[in-house]
Amino acid sequence: MNIILFGPQGSGKGTQADLLVEKYKLYHLSMGDELRKEIKKGTPLGKKISKIVNRGDLVPSKITNNISLKISKRKECKNGIIFDGYPRSMEQWIFLKNNFKIGATIEIILSEKESVRRIASRRVCPKCGHNYNTIWLKPKISRYCDIDHAKLIHREDDKPLEIKRRLKIYHTQTEPLKKEYKKQKILYTINGARPIKLVNNEIVKILKNIYK
Ligand code: AMP
Repeated sequence: MNIILFGPQGSGKGTQADLLVEKYKLYHLSMGDELRKEIKKGTPLGKKISKIVNRGDLVPSKITNNISLKISKRKECKNGIIFDGYPRSMEQWIFLKNNFKIGATIEIILSEKESVRRIASRRVCPKCGHNYNTIWLKPKISRYCDIDHAKLIHREDDKPLEIKRRLKIYHTQTEPLKKEYKKQKILYTINGARPIKLVNNEIVKILKNIYK
C-alpha cells in the first residue's frame, strides 16, 4: 500500500517520511530529491530541470510521472511507497491514481509565516541531501553534515522570492487536490506546527488502519 504526504514547504514531510520508512520499511520517494539527483548528473535533462527548480516552478508532469513509474519498479518499493512532494498538480494526481493504489493522503498543515521561517533557516547537505536547521536541528559541527562532513548549503529555491513562488504554487495547484482525496475518503489532516515526535505519533495512529 502506498501513501501520500503533502503540505506546504517546511511542514516536515521529509522528516516524517524518514521516520515512517524505518517503522514500516517503505520506500521514501521524494520527488524533489529525485530531481536534484538528475540535476547532479549534469545530463541535458538535468540542465533543463535545474533552471526550473532554481526559480521555484514545477517541472513538467511528464518528467515527474516517468520518474515515479521507473522508481516504483525497484525491489525496495515492494512494501509500498511514501510519496513526498508528489503529486503536486491535477495532472500528476490522475497519473498516480491510475498507476498506484493509495491507502491514505496525509496533509501536514502549517501557516505561511511558519513555513517561510522554517525554510529560511533550512540548510541541506549537497552530498547526501540530509536536512538541518540553523535554529532547532543543528549539525554536530557547525555548517557541516553529520553524515558525510560535506559543507551545508542554503538551496537557491529556499531563498525568499523563490519560497514565495513555491508556496503560491502549493496553494493554487497542490492544495486543491484535497477535494479529490476527500472524494476517495483517503484524506487525513494533521497540525504540523508541533514537535516532530508528536506529529509522527499522529501519523502512526492514522496508518494503524492501513498497515495492520
Ligand atoms: P522539494 O524538495 O519537494 O521542495 O522540491 C523542490 C523543487 O523540485 C520544487 O520547487 C519543484 O521545482 C521541483 N519539484 C518537486 N516535486 C515536483 C513535482 N511533483 N512536480 C513538479 N516539480 C516538482
